[in-house]
Amino acid sequence: MALENLPEPVITRFAPSPTGRMHAGNIFSYLSAWLLTKRVGGTVLLRIEDLDSSRSRAAYADHIKQDFELLGLLWDGEVMYQSKRWEAYEAAFRALKERGLTYPCFCTRADIHAASAPHAGEQLVYPGTCALLSPEEQSTRLRELQHDGRQPSIRLKVGYETICFEDLLQGEQHFSCADDCGDFVIRRSDGGFAYQLAVVVDDAAQGVNLVVRGTDLLSSTPLQIYLQQLLDLEQVHYAHVPLICAADGRRIAKRDHDASLEELLVQYKTPEGVLGHIAFIAGLINKDQALTTQELLESAQLSAVKGVKKITWH
Ligand code: GLU
Repeated sequence: MALENLPEPVITRFAPSPTGRMHAGNIFSYLSAWLLTKRVGGTVLLRIEDLDSSRSRAAYADHIKQDFELLGLLWDGEVMYQSKRWEAYEAAFRALKERGLTYPCFCTRADIHAASAPHAGEQLVYPGTCALLSPEEQSTRLRELQHDGRQPSIRLKVGYETICFEDLLQGEQHFSCADDCGDFVIRRSDGGFAYQLAVVVDDAAQGVNLVVRGTDLLSSTPLQIYLQQLLDLEQVHYAHVPLICAADGRRIAKRDHDASLEELLVQYKTPEGVLGHIAFIAGLINKDQALTTQELLESAQLSAVKGVKKITWH
């Protein structure tokens, strides 16, 4: 199987956040990225997304690299670390700021909730409160905040454009920046750069032209495409793979011990047993059997997850 419309030559990346060990869900998305790319002779890069220093741990980054090797999900070339990329994010941030596309935001999450009244499960849309502040009001609010030793977050203005893209697995997507998200944070109130900005700058710096990741990030993709357009960066192709969920519908997360790689190795005996089981429950292969990544390259049908958003773990 080869999915249509792949860029050529494909360059993708594994982009783990070192905040815990791997689990069935992220193993499935890394396996999908590797299969899609290696089947067409492409390149898989590794980027450790240790942007948030309060949650990232160097020990997890080391574990994650060992886990990739153990599973046979081998990457090509040097590893990139987001913690070393401050200057690149700063330059992109400055370019947006100098074009008058940003403003400081003093709202708390509770303020935004109160102003936009989202229904349960709906994405929070920023109502633009701080975009309306006069320069005098901005200075007063800034002084008050700094007096308390705090900083505002910085938001990027969005217009009324609709972002459309063809996801290789989930099909056509349409997203209204104003109605589905609103102006979004590109610099956090602790001074750190937001995921959306960093990921776009890094994908471009690494020459990534295919991003394969879980459907939990599908709603981030239009924001990233919007940033790519503003920063005049190459267009990236996207393939969002289904999330692996527990029987109650909840997405499997790093805290779910029974789906952690450690536990899976106990249950399925070998790295190949783990890969084969994950590929089987996702419907990529017909039999629950131990297979290496090379063997999966021959037999796995990634088109089986076209249009699928969730898979139940069992
Ligand atoms: N670092 C993110 C994660 O581990 C992935 C971000 C991405 O693929 O864009 O969930």
